[in-house]
Amino acid sequence: MSIAKRIDGKAFAAGLRRRVATEIEHIKKSYNLTPGLAVVLVGEDPASQVYVRNKSQQTLEVGMASFEHRLDTQTPEADLLVLIDRLNNDDAVHGILVQLPLPDHINEHKVLSAINPEKDVDGFHLINVGRLWTGADALVPCTPYGCILMLKEHLGDLTGKRALVLGRSNIVGKPMAALLLQESCTVSIAHSRTIDLPTRCREADILVAAVGRPMMVQGDWIKPGAVVIDVGINRVDAPERGEGKTRLVGDVDFAQAEQVASAITPVPGGVGPMTIACLLRNTVVAACRQANIQSPKI
Ligand code: NAP
Repeated sequence: MSIAKRIDGKAFAAGLRRRVATEIEHIKKSYNLTPGLAVVLVGEDPASQVYVRNKSQQTLEVGMASFEHRLDTQTPEADLLVLIDRLNNDDAVHGILVQLPLPDHINEHKVLSAINPEKDVDGFHLINVGRLWTGADALVPCTPYGCILMLKEHLGDLTGKRALVLGRSNIVGKPMAALLLQESCTVSIAHSRTIDLPTRCREADILVAAVGRPMMVQGDWIKPGAVVIDVGINRVDAPERGEGKTRLVGDVDFAQAEQVASAITPVPGGVGPMTIACLLRNTVVAACRQANIQSPKI
């Protein structure tokens, strides 16, 4: 078996951002409409601060308007709900993203439910979840959407493929399974109570790992020739790089997996870069729907 092809998420995301930028230019010229994305961050979680900064920067780079709201950790839930209501009613804002996790005193479900589903570019509102599972036009969660775009680019038609999604979170695992089902895959969802996980994984032509366990998926869990999408982002100690150093690894043991799979996404540089690119794409789609303009096929 030859070594697996690396699916280059960085290059793929750059291509998607270019298509989004072209679409925005067209929308601005033809309809005098500038899509706008509002990002709300509550608290000072360092990882969230980095994500929010990257999101704002990339939003501006593709020609969209960016609105950033940074709130104190102690912000009462009621104040956050007032802000969301204001953004729901702001015509310059077409997409609203509340950065998760929220501080413990704020009810995440209540906050996500308060976002107008037409502006819910993260796709977490129950209306969008229902639309996704029933095959209606949904705003789809960005990370699984990025995975499905890369899978279709790599494999073409996914019809009839056996897919296993490892992880059943609302953010990744479940919407990933819904998207694979929409592509007519035969889908299984595995989780911490799944019996004989390696055997279940070995049955899959497409294996999507989203567990948050560093390098859990071993080479012999993978069907020879399978396509592996590694969603996991785990920081581990890397003493070989020097004292106190760390590195990012996925949920799949990459060195083993690339000996068995036909293609695999690396970590970093695989799924990660696609997430923000898909957020920008969702914002353009949301803006077009709100303005009754035909949604672009991007
Ligand atoms: P999560 O909410 O913690 O869900 C993890 C899932 O994995 C759960 O369904 C859990 O099963 C399952 N699981 C945990 N340990 C397991 C085990 N030993 N065997 C089998 N299943 C196990 O995580 P998440 O938000 O979906 O994220 C998953 C990973 O993706 C994390 O590393 C996260 O950082 C990464 N991520 C990356 C991006 C990106 O942009 N690339 C975006 C989001 C998340 P139970 O339900 O039974 O507990």
